[in-house]
Amino acid sequence: LVSRELQAHDTVVEVGGVAIGGDRLAVIAGPCAVESPEQLHETASAVKKAGATLLRAGAYKPRTSPYGFSGHGLEGLRILREVGDDLGLPVVTEVMDTADVAAVADAADCLQIGARNMQNFALLRAVGAAGRPVLLKRGLSATIQEWLLAAEYLMAAGNAQVILCERGIRTFEPATRNTLDLNAVPYVKNKTHLPIIVDPSHGTGARDLVPPMSLAATAAGADGLMIEVHRDPAVAMSDGAQSLYPHQFEALMAALAPVAAAI
Ligand code: PEP
Ligand code: MN
Repeated sequence: LVSRELQAHDTVVEVGGVAIGGDRLAVIAGPCAVESPEQLHETASAVKKAGATLLRAGAYKPRTSPYGFSGHGLEGLRILREVGDDLGLPVVTEVMDTADVAAVADAADCLQIGARNMQNFALLRAVGAAGRPVLLKRGLSATIQEWLLAAEYLMAAGNAQVILCERGIRTFEPATRNTLDLNAVPYVKNKTHLPIIVDPSHGTGARDLVPPMSLAATAAGADGLMIEVHRDPAVAMSDGAQSLYPHQFEALMAALAPVAAAI
């Protein structure tokens, strides 16, 4: 179902009225996590002002350490919905557990399946049946073929609204958090009709690398970007080191416009 051979034209996924795929670059921005109503509102206002058209923020956070901040759960979903509605931004947020799919689908315009759950087949089936667009991140050690088969699970469960997200893979290189595989963008666009976006924040782990890799991803033909921004990255409860300051995000959006227009 994901194959270009079966469908020649590009799929465009509508998330709360915003198209992902097609000619416009879709920029999904926001903090790693919902921390408080004020933190989310201030950050979301800044990304909207700079031109982002979708808001991201996690209420359920997959953390490497069990002692890390794991998100505000239902309360986080409530805050996210409220801020999204207030600013007119559709919201994207991660669901980690089949038990939470209904609640997340109720609150969010798009359900994110995180890298660590790319091959959680029970979750793929449940999210596939939830009737909401899905953003499927590539697993940390997943081949492109495995990633596309995970997308196939979603489609086989009846969900045609699938967005792929390259977010870096684990390689032998420790200098950056992950190795952003931009090869995947043109490769995947050739293999499948599904839209593909790039997350240079998790892909690099370093704020200074996010703008150049955003430009590179756009030049490579990505349909969109997912970028972490925090009103004050120094005090972020997760992923502060890779989160842009609002003024950096604004500068990046300005730099992206001519590149997006050129391709
Ligand atoms: C995220 O987007 O917040 C996230 C946890 O990403 P990933 O699953 O790619 O690590
Ligand atoms: Mn994050």
